Amino acid sequence: MNILRIENVSKSFGEVKVLEDINISIKEGEFFSILGPSGSGKTTILRLIAGFLIPNEGTIKINNKIINNLPPEKREVNIVFQSLALFPMMNVYENVAFGLKMKKLPKKEIREKVLKMLEKVGLKGFENRKISELSGGQKQRVAIARSLIMKPKILLLDEPLSALDKKLKEHMMIELKLLQKEFKTTFIYITHDQSEAMVMSDRIAVINEGKIEQIDKPFNLYNYPKTHFVASFIGENN
Ligand code: ADP
Repeated sequence: MNILRIENVSKSFGEVKVLEDINISIKEGEFFSILGPSGSGKTTILRLIAGFLIPNEGTIKINNKIINNLPPEKREVNIVFQSLALFPMMNVYENVAFGLKMKKLPKKEIREKVLKMLEKVGLKGFENRKISELSGGQKQRVAIARSLIMKPKILLLDEPLSALDKKLKEHMMIELKLLQKEFKTTFIYITHDQSEAMVMSDRIAVINEGKIEQIDKPFNLYNYPKTHFVASFIGENN
């Protein structure tokens, strides 16, 4: 069952067309990556899905309902930004509890949920730590916990691991994949790093200059690239 369908979507900024006739269908529970070089249009797709931008042409559907004009807060979509956008003056507990507090859930229920979530992401006992006292990987986990606790239908991840060093990145890739399987949340993962996409994804859309080159499983992209661009981009070691 497709949770998200992007159908014939184009997007221009002024005279400049940055996305042309994009078609992507994503299944419920899928780990789907959008992979392409800088400036290829990945973030624009993510902003269209989140509702921060409206397409010039085409439709975006969640569970078969057209959502082109639905405001971001009504889309049941959550984002983990590259910058993480954590609240530095709040501690770990307050950061993860924030969305639930906004929903006005009872205090006791919030506490139970936050403690359970912190345990799941390996941050048990870190409740009172300030964000500034955390390592890069720990901040990353707080950002993911804060998003997952809202039980979004779709979690959008915008290059969330790009600031981490290689070793930590490899570790976090495994953790992310495990969390995604456990929560059965649909992940849409934006990256320019082919190794990240290849390791974690069920399927990948390779994008170049605003057009989709190929959508396929990592194995097929590697072994049966349909364009020169896919062959050279997937083959790169970056
Ligand atoms: P990526 O995420 O793959 O790096 P983006 O989606 O951010 O690519 O950008 C795709 C293209 O659209 C780039 O050429 C970028 O300069 C342009 N672009 C993105 N946002 C805007 C905007 N608000 N106004 C004008 N051009 C934009």
